[in-house]
Amino acid sequence: MTKVTEIQSFLDEQHIDAAFITTPDNVFYISGFDSEPHERLLGVMVFKDKEPFVICPLMEVPDVLASGWAFDIVGHEDTEDAWDVVLDAVKKRGALPTSIAIEKSHLTVERLERMQTIFQNTTFANLDNQLNQMRVIKDEDELANLRIAAQFADKAIEIGCREIAEGKTELEILMAIEFELKKQGIQKMSFDTMVLSGPKTASPHGTPGDRKIQKGDFILFDLGVVYNGYCSDITRTVAFGEPSDEHRKIYETVKLAEQSAIELVRPGVKAMDLDQAARGVITDAGYGQYFTHRLGHGLGISVHEFPSITGTNEFVLEEGMVFTIEPGIYHPEVTGVRIEDDVVVTKNGVEVLTKFPKELQIIQA
Ligand code: MN
Ligand code: MN
Repeated sequence: MTKVTEIQSFLDEQHIDAAFITTPDNVFYISGFDSEPHERLLGVMVFKDKEPFVICPLMEVPDVLASGWAFDIVGHEDTEDAWDVVLDAVKKRGALPTSIAIEKSHLTVERLERMQTIFQNTTFANLDNQLNQMRVIKDEDELANLRIAAQFADKAIEIGCREIAEGKTELEILMAIEFELKKQGIQKMSFDTMVLSGPKTASPHGTPGDRKIQKGDFILFDLGVVYNGYCSDITRTVAFGEPSDEHRKIYETVKLAEQSAIELVRPGVKAMDLDQAARGVITDAGYGQYFTHRLGHGLGISVHEFPSITGTNEFVLEEGMVFTIEPGIYHPEVTGVRIEDDVVVTKNGVEVLTKFPKELQIIQA
């Protein structure tokens, strides 16, 4: 079954006439066309029983063709109203739909209002849950891309470790990582690469800057690449010079917490069980208050996607799901440490995609 026919059977079951998909990641998932249209309209209209179409900026029509999309493509020019073009394409297919499923968590109010103007006797249903359920299970092709994305993430950490030297700035190390990856054919990172050193590691979403690496620092790398449209996301924290006892204790606690969660992964386990296992280890060691975020998040075409691995989510894991496990301790007076891997739920357990070693790496100062 193609993604289009899966959407069509959902529409059929739910008695909804059409679905309009506009977020670039979901457009890619359904159509195979990968593009960031910015403010211009890009979408896939799928009907219960009519030919679907992609609506895109006119200049991108050849790219949609090249992506392998086998159905109609409708281009809109910058000088025309894209919504009039959508309406024309729908009218060509007969009666206007009485119901359309949209991505309620993403479609802007402005766009919904335009749709309500065009489709005056149409109700709007939610497509989010259906898309989440489709995307959460990865097929073999998707897993193959995720594996390669993870290999590049491992490689990036290796490069980062090699670049560490006294007096180098976080941004210099970051630049060296991305320079090397680009030489190896990686077009883009899955988010802004993070290289944090010393006290800056205590900020889970810190910003790399011109701080110079010093002896005794922990250095935290959080990064990922996009490979054939699929993301990786890895974090490793390494030591520059001999770490203090408390640095070591924090590191070993996070490592044990991460391992405890990974060991539980298999079909039938709840997301909350993983978070609670890791959090239990960190709390028992006395650092509970410093683990200030959820354990992980789904990973695929988007770097953060469904499901959320939190301590209260009763979501049950199934074979083919991919997510991160990334406990951390962020102690403002000592250091921050996070360790993050990408994992797949397999038939009987877990496959860990990111493989860079987790024994504390001590880089000689
Ligand atoms: Mn990360
Ligand atoms: Mn992550």
